[in-house]
Amino acid sequence: MLIRFWGTRGSIATPGESPVRYGGNTSCVEAVTDSGRRFIFDCGTGARPLGGYLLGNAPKPIELTILLSHTHWDHIQGFPFFAPVFIPGNRITMCGPKGANGSLPEVLAGQMEYTYFPVDLASLGAKIEYRDLTEGTHDIDGVRIAVQYLNHPAVALGYRIEADGMSLLYLCDHEPYWEPLWRSDQEPGRLESILHDGDRRHAAFMQNADVVIHDSQYTPEEYPARKNWGHSTYTYVVGMAAAANVKRLFLTHHDPTHNDEFLDRIEEAARGVAAAAGSSMKVECAREGFEEKFNTSASGVTSDAESQLNAVPSAEPAHSGSMLILMIDDDEDLRILARKSLTKAGHRVIEADGGAEGLKMVAEHKPDLILLDLFMPPPDGFEVLRELRSNETTRLLPVVVLTAHGDEEGARKSFELGATDFLAKPFSPPQLDARVRACFAHAQRQ
Ligand SMILES: [Zn+2]
Ligand SMILES: [Zn+2]
Repeated sequence: MLIRFWGTRGSIATPGESPVRYGGNTSCVEAVTDSGRRFIFDCGTGARPLGGYLLGNAPKPIELTILLSHTHWDHIQGFPFFAPVFIPGNRITMCGPKGANGSLPEVLAGQMEYTYFPVDLASLGAKIEYRDLTEGTHDIDGVRIAVQYLNHPAVALGYRIEADGMSLLYLCDHEPYWEPLWRSDQEPGRLESILHDGDRRHAAFMQNADVVIHDSQYTPEEYPARKNWGHSTYTYVVGMAAAANVKRLFLTHHDPTHNDEFLDRIEEAARGVAAAAGSSMKVECAREGFEEKFNTSASGVTSDAESQLNAVPSAEPAHSGSMLILMIDDDEDLRILARKSLTKAGHRVIEADGGAEGLKMVAEHKPDLILLDLFMPPPDGFEVLRELRSNETTRLLPVVVLTAHGDEEGARKSFELGATDFLAKPFSPPQLDARVRACFAHAQRQ
């Protein structure tokens, strides 16, 4: 498989003298399988030079698949400048997540309305086919691709391609589910020692991969002031990838304020984190213009990774749109905020201001998902969760625990009792919507 980086910058393109070696274009990565199947991860501004390259070098007509992580600007802004879309005869399959604000073509058409751009989406010459993806394993252009939700304040997808006897993951944009990463009562560096189920699932998704390309926008020093913005630190990414036995790691989605010298230092520090973890993984900061043909490695896809992929059914969820959500929380302000954002995302919301009333409403209304506060007058969230998990009809019901006291003890106990997710307050409306969708998808696969 051939991999080329066309855009490695996060948030906004940064032209100029300083980011010369690492590049200034936003997210865009090309992967071509040995049989000539071409996949493009994201369409940031790097898609413009990629388009020019393909016109000159790719077999005609151009056929390719675009795998969008999500539709934030820095991942779609190159699409209207991607030359192959203007040429009749070319065939493009555009895959991405269905978000809260419409289908993929609706969102892409939005950025090409005449207010923003002179050509509308409908008048592009190429044949474009759209595919809304959800979590699971999909056959795309004859290649097996596993998809898993990322933690980002938008519905965002991570991709794992299995082809040519190797595995490649593209994981942008993603933020730790929980900090610190490791349980304090266990040895760090192992999957079992990861505290939050979401981070453990994310690491398991990378397990035994040959190549991982991962968002690593911030340093650990920068992160606290940018929490909930949806990006990772190199310490988190290297720690996770080392625990997952990844062979080669590319840190990407570089912050616009990080110049070449700064990224050199990040690369050195990240290699230090890998060495301290006893990992032989090769770590580097992704550079625009980098390309390498990865040889097939028979050891790349281990039986572990195979079984992990096979465990993800390919079926679409029964319904990925509107859900009936029960919110059990004695904090009225929070209920108002959550109700507002969830109803805007198309869900129906019912509310209980305590545990006893909540359990009654579960039996009466049979919600699709529960948002559960931990600290309420008895029965508190832990007791409600225990009750739900002991009842056959609600044993697998997705439950997102919300808490203002984001301590390790609460997180551990919640997961031990069977919480699907654990989210600390305060959180933003798009974050809540993305986590709710992801939890519902996980629960459907169980
Ligand atoms: Zn981004
Ligand atoms: Zn983003």
